[in-house]
Amino acid sequence: MLAFYLSIPEVENQRKSQNVIAGRRRAFKEGRYVGSPPKGYSVGRDSTNKPILVPNNDAPYILEAFELMATGVYNLREVFNKLKDKGYKSSKTAFSNMIRNPLYSGLVYLSAYRDEKEQFIEGIHEPIITRMLYSKVQDVINGRNKQKGLNHKKVNPAFPLRGFLMCPKCDKPLSGSISTGRNKKYAYYHCFSPCDIRIKQEDAHSWFHHFLRSISLDENAYELLVEIIKNEFDKINKQNKVGPKQREKLKNLEEKLINVQDLFIDGDLTKEEYQNHKKNIENLINEVKDRQIQFSKKKEVFDLYKNGLKSMQNIENQYIKSNVEFKRRLIGSIFPEKFQFQNKKVRTADINPILHKIAHFTRVNKENKKRDKSQKKDLSRCVAGAGLEPATFGL
Ligand SMILES: [Zn+2]
Repeated sequence: MLAFYLSIPEVENQRKSQNVIAGRRRAFKEGRYVGSPPKGYSVGRDSTNKPILVPNNDAPYILEAFELMATGVYNLREVFNKLKDKGYKSSKTAFSNMIRNPLYSGLVYLSAYRDEKEQFIEGIHEPIITRMLYSKVQDVINGRNKQKGLNHKKVNPAFPLRGFLMCPKCDKPLSGSISTGRNKKYAYYHCFSPCDIRIKQEDAHSWFHHFLRSISLDENAYELLVEIIKNEFDKINKQNKVGPKQREKLKNLEEKLINVQDLFIDGDLTKEEYQNHKKNIENLINEVKDRQIQFSKKKEVFDLYKNGLKSMQNIENQYIKSNVEFKRRLIGSIFPEKFQFQNKKVRTADINPILHKIAHFTRVNKENKKRDKSQKKDLSRCVAGAGLEPATFGL
């Protein structure tokens, strides 16, 4: 709603000049609305001869519009038509904006500006409607929107797997529903006719929690994995290492560049010779610097992995105590596409391959304390391999 007020012409016009903005904001902060008056108000003068909003002949229409809306019986178009029949003149868009404007309830909206947050200020003008009537109407409007499906982005927290979980029979995403039995409510993930696959919500969730537990890392496995990944990164970085040798090389090159410059100034080099030398040296310098950049980038990637692994400790509990938005982010990062249950378990083929390896590694590591070398190698190669986005588990 606030975004809308930012776009009304009065607010847009604030871009005039610093002084105008400052003066206007000062007035707003005193509760004095300045600018062109909205429908239902005219600009009058107060006792100090300053401008103030005064209700005009349209005010009763506006009050009636709000009262009709608040009943919840009519929709916006119906209320608009009723008032139009009575002689109220407005466009539908203006009407729709009007019914959302808190100014009629006595509040002045001040937009955010520089380090000031947006705010509502108690206005000094006479309200046309009460604050309560205003908020009742907003509830009605928002409730309507929901029914129309405009807020369909809201996910039902009872079905966090919805959209990710696919039908094992026909591969369509399962929906979630609650049906009321005689004594109890039953929640299901289900497919549609003619398939009619149903999975009890509690079963699906318990299988899913079990899966999360299986990819959770214990402290032991975490440390081991970090060590493996670190070794792998060290290996890659050896060739790019920025050691004393590299620094020395860079210093030499920079000195050479100064020498060439001196030679040119002293007249020992032609302009062309100088430019050639300069170009060559600069290329060499860039090469060294590029290596440094590559190195720090690798380090960044390593840190990403480390943090990703950190968030895989106790992943089940993290998931259970989070809100539905986080849950869905997490699910999205575990499965590159969608997933299915197979024999009451998450189908392993659906899991992000890196997570899959990690889960497998953890399991083997738990079962058998001897650390299997080939396992380690396989995992580290997978982690360090090209094209694997560590950000996929940036939870
Ligand atoms: Zn199906």
